[in-house]
Amino acid sequence: MRSEFLPFTKPAVTEEDIAAVNAVLRSGWLTNGPVNAEFEAAVAALSNCKGAVAVASATGAMHILLQALGIGPGDEVITPSMTWVSIANMIVLSGATPVFVDVNKETLLVEPETIRKAITPRTKLIVPVHFAGAPCDMDGIRAVAGNIPVVEDAAHAVGTFYKGRHVGTGNHAIYSFHAIKNVTCGEGGMFVSDDPELCDKIRRWKFHGIGMDAFDRQNRGRSPQAEVLSPGFKYNLTDICAALGYSQFKRWQKINARRTELAMLYREKLAAVPEIRPLADPAGYDFTHAWHLFVVRVDTPRIDRNTFMAKLKEQNIGTGLHFRCAHLQKFYREHFGFQEGVLPNTEYNSDRICSLPLFPDMLDSDVDDVICAIKTVLAGAGK
Ligand SMILES: *Cc1c(COP(=O)(O)O)cnc(C)c1O
Repeated sequence: MRSEFLPFTKPAVTEEDIAAVNAVLRSGWLTNGPVNAEFEAAVAALSNCKGAVAVASATGAMHILLQALGIGPGDEVITPSMTWVSIANMIVLSGATPVFVDVNKETLLVEPETIRKAITPRTKLIVPVHFAGAPCDMDGIRAVAGNIPVVEDAAHAVGTFYKGRHVGTGNHAIYSFHAIKNVTCGEGGMFVSDDPELCDKIRRWKFHGIGMDAFDRQNRGRSPQAEVLSPGFKYNLTDICAALGYSQFKRWQKINARRTELAMLYREKLAAVPEIRPLADPAGYDFTHAWHLFVVRVDTPRIDRNTFMAKLKEQNIGTGLHFRCAHLQKFYREHFGFQEGVLPNTEYNSDRICSLPLFPDMLDSDVDDVICAIKTVLAGAGK
């Protein structure tokens, strides 16, 4: 057994990242300023989008986007239930109704045909999730969406390509730079889009709803008497955080390459453990996986997922759960009356998934330790 605990994730912070943050701390400008602008330009370029707005979190970006699109009571937003609950929460808080759709049982990706069936005259937005870093079929989703806006939840997807194009291309997308994501600010997010008006609204609403932020006022000679155009939030990203994110973003290829190597090692070694089933790759299109998560399903009557996670912890192996489906959580069951059985593929996975340790500084021998611990746990499980 391992003597030292192997965490499920650990941010890959380098001396270069620390130096970048230090430079901001010494610069005399801590909140959103020049580093935000550089970071935005780099993420927009990768996403082939004309505009990008850095914000304090992906959740905050979703909150403002719903407002900017005028989505509220009586409107419907289509989203998988197999996602982080923050997206559903923002839909509910906007007054709109989340319309949860099922995902492919083996990839956890939402499919165009499923979305098509959920569209009604009230549908105002579609939110596909590039789960674990694999892309949804965006051509198919665009085709069924017609004029309905699509915002790609790209929280897992820095470095995810679909048919040779980076996610976000031709749509709106939201990234997360939360501490566990491939590229992190500690906490942070970004909205990207080709629509300059929408970007302007989001930029305004991330900072009180005034036409410019403090950096504009102080450094760009604009009027300090800026006024509220419409009441906004306080979701700007500090340059302290942006510096960490931008420094990491510059080496996303290196980060993802190591994640990919580790994922391939897991796949190879788990081939001999049929009770622990990794997700499958999406079929029918060319893609590059960002390998944000390595998700497996504990698929045996001999041991349930929660016990499996607890037993791995006893073996000094950390795991994560991404995600418990949204529609069966307390509020959603009580408020919307959801019951088990409505989204079978989502629920099957919600009960069985578990994320194995995956982070760039992991060693190949750490993967061996995880596999060894899994075999020990399975050997000790019932018949
Ligand atoms: C992390 C995550 C979010 C939320 O990101 P924050 O930056 O923490 O708000 C949204 N969707 C998915 C799929 C995520 O994994």
